[in-house]
Amino acid sequence: MILEVIVDISTDNVDRCFDYVGEDMPLGSRVAVEFGKKQLIGFVVGKKETSDYGDLKTARYLDAPISSEQLELLSFMRTSYDLRYIDALRLFVPAKLREEKDPEYSRKFLTVDGSRPLEQLVEQVGSRAAKQLDALMYIASTGGQFLSVLTSKFGASAISGLRGKGVVIESLVHERSTPLSGLQKQNKKVTLTDSQASAVRRISNGKGVFLLHGVTGSGKTEVYQTAIEEELKRGKTAIMLVPEISLTPQVLGLFRARFGDSVAILHSGLNASERYDEWKRLKTGEAKIAIGARSAIFAPLENIGIIIIDEEHDASYQSENNPRYDTKSVAQYRAALCGAKLVLGSATPDIESYMRATEGDYQLVELPDRISKYALPEMEIVDMTAEFRGGNRGMFSIALREALQQTLDRGEQAMIFLNRRGFASFIRCSECGYIAKCEDCDISLTYHITEHELKCHYCGKRYHEITKCPNCGSDRIKQGKIGTEKVVEELKKLFPKVRVLRMDRDTTQRKDGYFKILNQFASHEADVLVGTQMIAKGHDFGNVTLVGILEADAALYFSDYRASERTFQLITQVAGRAGRADKKGRVILQTYAPRHYVFRYGKTYDYVGFFKKEINTRLVTKFPPYTKIVRVLISSPDEQDAVNCTRDVYSKIRQLEAERGRFVYLGAARSPITRMNGLVRYQVTMRLTPEQFGACISDIYAAADGVRTKGGSVFVEINPQSMA
Ligand code: ADP
Ligand code: ZN
Ligand code: ZN
Repeated sequence: MILEVIVDISTDNVDRCFDYVGEDMPLGSRVAVEFGKKQLIGFVVGKKETSDYGDLKTARYLDAPISSEQLELLSFMRTSYDLRYIDALRLFVPAKLREEKDPEYSRKFLTVDGSRPLEQLVEQVGSRAAKQLDALMYIASTGGQFLSVLTSKFGASAISGLRGKGVVIESLVHERSTPLSGLQKQNKKVTLTDSQASAVRRISNGKGVFLLHGVTGSGKTEVYQTAIEEELKRGKTAIMLVPEISLTPQVLGLFRARFGDSVAILHSGLNASERYDEWKRLKTGEAKIAIGARSAIFAPLENIGIIIIDEEHDASYQSENNPRYDTKSVAQYRAALCGAKLVLGSATPDIESYMRATEGDYQLVELPDRISKYALPEMEIVDMTAEFRGGNRGMFSIALREALQQTLDRGEQAMIFLNRRGFASFIRCSECGYIAKCEDCDISLTYHITEHELKCHYCGKRYHEITKCPNCGSDRIKQGKIGTEKVVEELKKLFPKVRVLRMDRDTTQRKDGYFKILNQFASHEADVLVGTQMIAKGHDFGNVTLVGILEADAALYFSDYRASERTFQLITQVAGRAGRADKKGRVILQTYAPRHYVFRYGKTYDYVGFFKKEINTRLVTKFPPYTKIVRVLISSPDEQDAVNCTRDVYSKIRQLEAERGRFVYLGAARSPITRMNGLVRYQVTMRLTPEQFGACISDIYAAADGVRTKGGSVFVEINPQSMA
């Protein structure tokens, strides 16, 4: 039998199979092959009787990690997202299975040789081997440690030195994922409310896709869990996706408490062995529920009864790096393949999801009421242009300053949220709130310092820099930008004794930074937590009674058609942090655009009102879901090469246009982030009607594939989460 094998070589850019001979085996099998001079791992993706090549080498069967259903999903992804085989395959198998022929997931564990006194061991190591001595003392004092931990701490040579001298003893420990050990064990028994019970009934007795729209605190988690339980009773399995940032011990604890060892957790905090361990428990059927961030959609489960995507509006469900894919579409395809239900849950659904629900593609299930007796606090909107005209040039309004003082006096806590997602460099008038926008797209313009001009990221149109406000004539027109550090500084000036914690990309660089800050704040080691959108989600803090939102409109001016949608989601989510438990909360929102409809509806958390307004705007301005934005992103280490490739892509697409009818807006330009990781970035952007999209997307993929950069890449993105 001839096997067509995709060989796992990370350096190769070619998407092709190699022929090998071997016994008959299922597609998706993992094989060991000789490739050049190397022994490598491969995956069988095709079988045939004859080959055009002579003298074929043999592929040896190892195991079959990918099921036929997963293979079907893989092939859907390849055509929908133009993925290379190997990139798609890698999503389905844990790293361990790609690196080693026989993965060892019991881990080596070192202890000191207990049969001799420590002094004797120290003597044997010798005083000149300082590193080895350090390591020895460390092992002795901790009672033993994993080999991998030790080598990363002390270096491989010190540890192998120790092992060579026979002063440590090696054993194999099969350690279950340590991140689980400290989790909550107690399951809280509750009686479902009427709307929860009816939501569960509709989901369990129905089929297809459900949109679960429930305000913050309406008890969606309980609905998910009960719906999963119903499926388990029928002998089915379940996948539950949450945004990576919500994979908190708290959330995981809830599931562990309810479902015990049937839960497998897949998240980025696990090391390769732990990941493999969890994968294997799912594969063998020992675990029946996979919980994780977006990649858990590829979990090796059979017989799936339900797939749940919590916070379905979250941007992280769209993968923006290779391999690029949209988790919701993948989930929908997988659910359909195995006849499972798909539940999309959110307090502020994606505009497209809600539209589909209103059109009947999705079944709308609602949880209109909060469980807690307290309603969500109404937002107080403060007009910062009025404060400015009244002489307050600081970043805190008078109302927020007073509220902070009261909160501190009562010994309660506050959160201050500052919107600093990505790089926003819109131009705003401090006096009247005017924002420079594109005439054609109604999207705020971005200031490009190097060219001294304003640009629209959707159509590429360029505008002169402005120094005077066209609306009121003021010269107080500038880039809106303050940072979290500034906020902390100002807070300390206003309240010298205040204890502040800051959470943003800088303070959470270290892996545990995020949880550490949250824990410190939860145990009241600080009075105020200042942060970016990272603090919008996560723990409930019972003692937080004030939420301040600075620059609430800043997110409105990301040059992005989702700007209003994102802002609505953010402010309602952040505001929901105030008064979660038994204390009443207060929310103060500062903006330069107090009359914007986002705030009008956001004030009372009126999602449906907001949706109706927003969907109409999308219709009028011809943005998704009524159209598709397609961006071809070209990157190269060499500027001239990037320009040439962009020109190539552009002219190929113009040809398509000649055949398929004019695309709306077609720009070819330097990307807003002109350089990333040493590569120059260019983009060709177009807006297609649904009919054009259906007819053209494979041609656009082909056009992009046909262009080769010198050491860079060409990628196609559909409705990208940002145009940066
Ligand atoms: P959501 O995910 O919709 O924001 P949660 O699922 O976090 O809401 O529920 C909010 C709180 O209400 C949680 O503390 C949860 O334990 C509690 N809760 C949920 N359902 C019930 C119920 N039926 N009875 C009592 N408490 C409940
Ligand atoms: Zn434009
Ligand atoms: Zn003005």
